[in-house]
Amino acid sequence: MANDTSLQSFNKIGVVGMGTMGRGIAQLTAEAGLNVVLFDVHAEATREAVTYISTRWQRQVEKGRMTEDQRQQNGQRLIQATELTDLANCDVVIEAVAEKLALKQSLFRELEGIVGSQTVLATNTSSFSVTEIASACHLPERVIGLHFFNPVPLMKIIEVIPGLRTAADVLARALTLGKMMGHFTAQTTDTPGFLVNHAGRAFSTEALRIIGEGATDPATIDRIMVDQGGFRMGPFMLLDLIGLDVSHAVMESIYQQFYQEPRCRPSPLTRQRLAANLLGRKTHEGFYRYGDSGVEVPPEPAIADAPPRPVWVSQEDLCAALALETLVEKAGWPLEKGATPSEQALCLLTPLGEDATHCAHRQGLNARQCVAIDTFAGLDKRRSLMVTPITDAAVAQAAQALLHHDGTPVSTLNDSTGFVLQRMVACIVNIGAEIAQQRIAAPATIDRAVELGLGYPLGPLRLGDHYGGERVLTILNNLQSATGDPRYRASLWLKRRVMLGVDLTTDEGLNYGEQQ
Ligand code: NAD
Repeated sequence: MANDTSLQSFNKIGVVGMGTMGRGIAQLTAEAGLNVVLFDVHAEATREAVTYISTRWQRQVEKGRMTEDQRQQNGQRLIQATELTDLANCDVVIEAVAEKLALKQSLFRELEGIVGSQTVLATNTSSFSVTEIASACHLPERVIGLHFFNPVPLMKIIEVIPGLRTAADVLARALTLGKMMGHFTAQTTDTPGFLVNHAGRAFSTEALRIIGEGATDPATIDRIMVDQGGFRMGPFMLLDLIGLDVSHAVMESIYQQFYQEPRCRPSPLTRQRLAANLLGRKTHEGFYRYGDSGVEVPPEPAIADAPPRPVWVSQEDLCAALALETLVEKAGWPLEKGATPSEQALCLLTPLGEDATHCAHRQGLNARQCVAIDTFAGLDKRRSLMVTPITDAAVAQAAQALLHHDGTPVSTLNDSTGFVLQRMVACIVNIGAEIAQQRIAAPATIDRAVELGLGYPLGPLRLGDHYGGERVLTILNNLQSATGDPRYRASLWLKRRVMLGVDLTTDEGLNYGEQQ
């Protein structure tokens, strides 16, 4: 392709496929001040898309977010096509037809016979390789991935994915177009799930694994991830929102494309639930039930009062011990300060990536009087406690009452290696680190893309730095040694940075080929 800077300007953008995504892309393109030619194989779909977009603009005018003048100008930029040949003069054509490889390849082949040799062909595919789609074209160097997120105008990120044969000037033009649309352009390599969908693997698969181990139930995990982790939505609420028909297919596809990478391994639970049509909101039942008044979240188990008893706190982690001792004093319960607990003491342990049983056993304590408390994210918003399989009921009840003394919500888990938040965070960070290690995108791009595309409070590398890379590595190492599962093997990116004592966002200064 010619390397002509005049090609950085765009007169007309074509969008093919006027479904959910195509409409959003067309709207955004017109709002960016570009003329956009809309085409769908069903003429009705194109007309409906124009009506849909116009209605949205009308609402924005009514809410004072757009002037009448802007609305009219935007409207004039929407050009309805009736034949694919109407896209002949487009500088870029973005396809958003159904997710079928043969369909996308044949569409691009047909378009090559219509458009000029300088026209960029962009695909909005979520799961296919851009290189593979391009392989069907005479000029694969003109093909690139422009991956938008739903709803397009609100999700302010576009992944820009050059295939192996994409020309440098095509990448430059795609990045320019993305920026003109006002979204963050995240340049990624052509790898399964690209950046955002790859980075999102841990959230649902690890949560499913936790319930698969019998540690707790979906609502408890969701509460912990929202209250302790600061996530907008828990993993099971999210699975229900997306629909298991979509999420299960994405989980399987990315796992298989990475040749059964254990870090991305899906759960047998979703396959079963799919067979039962428990898809989520769309079938009114998923991990939650959905009635006329919305989601029905099971109430939290009530916490009974218990009389104060002596509390002994393990001193293995001094910061955690101090936080717990402060809590015990505020509650007015007696603290035991001896090196070993008395027989009637409630023993509080603070494991990192370990289960309560292992932690008690290692310290030579009687597991019947032990309860583990998660101090990973502090003790302010919600408190998680974990019992060993033989913890006395009265001891567990005392621990619940103590943690709940000031009204802070409490979640009680069966013994689990690493509580909920610890292992969820560790898996999110580890996959993010591996994305950096594989040079799929630059560290800053990974973080920003995940914050915008997945709505996490922090991108995976920043999340690791927030909790401490060393703590995250300890959790992963302990999980791997306890379970023997290579799913938890730590990324070299993480190991090296912890060893060197630097942030996880520390780059190696090598060229990613990014044109930001
Ligand atoms: P959709 O089913 O809502 O719309 C697809 C549209 O393409 C339909 O209107 C259909 O009539 C039209 N179409 C089919 N064959 C055509 C052809 N040969 N020529 C012209 N039009 C044709 O699908 P969608 O959800 O908008 O997804 C479109 C693409 O975007 C897929 O590749 C999907 O993987 C990807 N994507 C979807 C989402 C999402 O959340 N829906 C997010 C990111 C990417």
